Formats: sequence, structure tokens, C-alpha cells
Amino acid sequence: MDKYLQQITILYVEDEKYIRDGYTRALKRVAKEVYTAKNGEEGIEYYKKYKPDIVISDIRMPKKNGILMAQEIKNINPNQVILFTTAYTGENYTLKALDLQIDGYIVKPVDKKKLINKLSIFAKNILINKENFKQAQIIQTILDKQSNITILTDFKNIEFSSKSFLYLFKVDSIKEFSLKYKNYFSLLAPKNNYIYAQNKDDFLIQYKNNPEKLISIVIDNKEKDFYINIDYIGVDKNPLYIVSLTDITTLQKEKEKIEYSATHDFLTKLYNRAKFDELLNIEFIRAKRYKRPLCVAMFDIDYFKNINDKYGHLIGDKTLKELASFFINHTREIDFFARWGGEEFMLLMSEMDIKNAKTICEKIRKEVASKKFVNDITFTISAGVTQLVENDTKDTFLQRVDEALYISKKNGRNKTTSLPIKE
Ligand code: GH3
Ligand code: MG
Ligand code: MG
Repeated sequence: MDKYLQQITILYVEDEKYIRDGYTRALKRVAKEVYTAKNGEEGIEYYKKYKPDIVISDIRMPKKNGILMAQEIKNINPNQVILFTTAYTGENYTLKALDLQIDGYIVKPVDKKKLINKLSIFAKNILINKENFKQAQIIQTILDKQSNITILTDFKNIEFSSKSFLYLFKVDSIKEFSLKYKNYFSLLAPKNNYIYAQNKDDFLIQYKNNPEKLISIVIDNKEKDFYINIDYIGVDKNPLYIVSLTDITTLQKEKEKIEYSATHDFLTKLYNRAKFDELLNIEFIRAKRYKRPLCVAMFDIDYFKNINDKYGHLIGDKTLKELASFFINHTREIDFFARWGGEEFMLLMSEMDIKNAKTICEKIRKEVASKKFVNDITFTISAGVTQLVENDTKDTFLQRVDEALYISKKNGRNKTTSLPIKE
């Protein structure tokens, strides 16, 4: 018994009863199921009803001949295996049959052994295809059930993709995706601390070494952020990877927002006091360790209360905002401006000695004094500035700048005082 044929169903179409009965008996001994039809019309009917794996048909038959029947069947399923039995070799019929991409023909009178051998080969292929199809369906179902966007790829071609992947890229099939994006590394956007590479090897090395495992993809000119997970599966020596993406665009945006509001002053958008403390910590340690100059300045608006009283709190707010922008535009990129409190600001200047720091403060003070703010408001600011010295702690450093500012206020405001290094 043939183990492949055993699992195969056959539709046998033959108008001559004597032949039909003989072959049906032979086929029934080897196949899982044999359906018989007397002509082309019945053949079509049974084909639709039983969906056999193989169709064996005579050509010359009443009602509907084998060729017409085969055409109809191929319209239903182009991959259907159809074999003709024919006494008319070399004739038009055979040629037409080949035109129709008929899978073979067997010359009558049919040798039963030859027939079985031939059928067995087809059976094996059919079963392999069936199995492949079944596995592909299982893989597809598994991918679609994941909440992640998943593809199976060798980093060149995509073998499978979840529906969510196609949806993300607004395509209907992997084929359409491949045509649209020939090199899919070009979809990546470079971003700080994100994985970014233009070929498989670089990408995998970065993936291995990157702790965050984030990538940014440009879709319709918009960047979307994803957490990426890659698992290797070796199939038949072909390296294949399961790549899954989790959309974190909204999560990432939220994170950035939270980070921003935790480190910035809501009104002026300058760094807040907490961020200033953090930056001071870093600069303080660095300056001490490498014996580098570090200066801090403190600014306070003179009689700001009067502005609020005269113009109202909202205009007071606007003034503070304008002053903050002015500060930012008048310092180096490596300087940090922070809002220390109400109308007090701190400026941290690394790699700066007291002489230059004082010059900067004076410049700022003078320009503010001659500047017109919202509603043509004018005001002055007082400043204190100091440089880190040998025995300083962060506290003594800050106390001294506060003291310097106090001296400016005491001496009539609109002044800059530097401590302790005197010019
Ligand atoms: P001095 O020259 O001594 O610094 O006088 P001053 O009036 O500026 O100082 P004081 O400390 O007496 O008052 C600070 C004022 O700043 C009081 C407060 O209402 C105002 N202020 C603090 N924060 C804000 C703010 O966010 N918006 C507005 N509009 N006003 C603020
Ligand atoms: Mg003030
Ligand atoms: Mg004040």
C-alpha cells in the first residue's frame, strides 16, 4: 500500500461503465476515497461537492467533455491536479490539455500499476503542499493573535507578517510592502540612544548592545517609536528572525512630557530648581576633581512687587517669561539658567573664572536696564556672582552667591557684586 495515496481523495470521471468500474475498484484499493462521475457535468458537480485532491478524467464524454470540465475546474482552483486518460495521443486533445496546464495524461488502455505509480508522485507533492499550507496558516494565526506587530524575516525578505504590520504600513500584502520599501532599513530614523543601522549586521550588533532596545520608524513623514524584540530561529540553515515591535509612541511622548515638567519651570520654561541642583552636583564634582573654574550667578528683579501692583499679576508673568528668553539668548550653550524662585534666577557657568563671569553678569544687568519689556515696562536687576574655591561645599558656594546678591541690593540695586575674589 502506498502511504501517500492512502491519504488522497480522487475524482474519477469516465463515461464507459465497464472501464469506470474496473479502474474505480483499482483506485479504491489504494486511495482514501474515490468518487466517480459519468460525464463532465457530473464531474463538475462532484468536484464542487467533494473537493478531491486529484481529478482523473476521460477526454471524450457526452454532455461535457473532459477539456471543458478541466477548464472549469482550473477556474475554480488553478492548482488542482488533473490527469487525463486518453487514447488520442499526439492529437489536438493532448495539446489543448497541455495548454490548460494539465498535469499529465495516461494513455489508454491504462496500465494500472503505472497509474498508481504516477498518482503516488502527485499524492506526495499534494500532501507536502497541504502540510506547508497548514503550517503557513498556523504561523499566520499565531502572528495575528499577538498584540505586537510581528514579522518573520532574514532581514532581507519578509516571510510572514502579522496583519498589524501590514496595517501599520498601509499595505495589503508583504509583496506590496517589499515593492514600496525596497530596503527597509531606510525607514529607520536616527535618534539619541536608539538602535539605528543600515544593514543587518550593524543592526544586530546594536540590538545586542543597546539596553533600551528602541527604534524609530518614519511612516508618512511621522516618527513612531517602537520597542523591538528579536529572536533567532534557524530553519534549514536559513537564518530567520522573529522581529516584534511594540508601539510606544504615546508612552514615549508621555515619558518625555513628564521628564520635561519634572525638570523645567512651568512659566518661564527655564530649568527648575531640582534640575539646577542636579546640574550643580555634576559640575561641582567635575570642577573639584579636575580643578576647573566654576562660577554661579544669582539674579533678582528689583522692586518686582511694584510691577505686579501696577500692571497686575498676568503682566508680571509675561515680564518674567520675556526676561527668561532674554537670559537664554545671552548665554553660552554650556551655561545653565534656572528659575530659583519667584523672580530669582541662577546661572551656572562651567569653565569660567570670576572675572569673565562678572563681565557677563554686568552685560546682562546693563542690557536689562535699558530694555523695554511688555507694555513698555522697564526695570532693573541685581546680581551676585562667585567662583568655587578650594574648601567650598555646595552649600557654602550657594550661600556666598546669595550674600553677593544681598550686597548688590543693599548698595542700591541695579548692581553686580562678586565674592570672594576681588578685582
Ligand atoms: P527687591 O528689589 O527687594 O527684590 O524687591 P521685590 O519686590 O522684587 O522683592 P520681593 O521679594 O519683596 O517680592 C517679589 C515679588 O515677586 C513678590 C511676588 O508677588 C512676585 N512674584 C514671585 N513669583 C511671581 C510669579 O510667578 N509671577 C508674578 N507675576 N509675580 C511673582
Ligand atoms: Mg526682587
Ligand atoms: Mg526676591
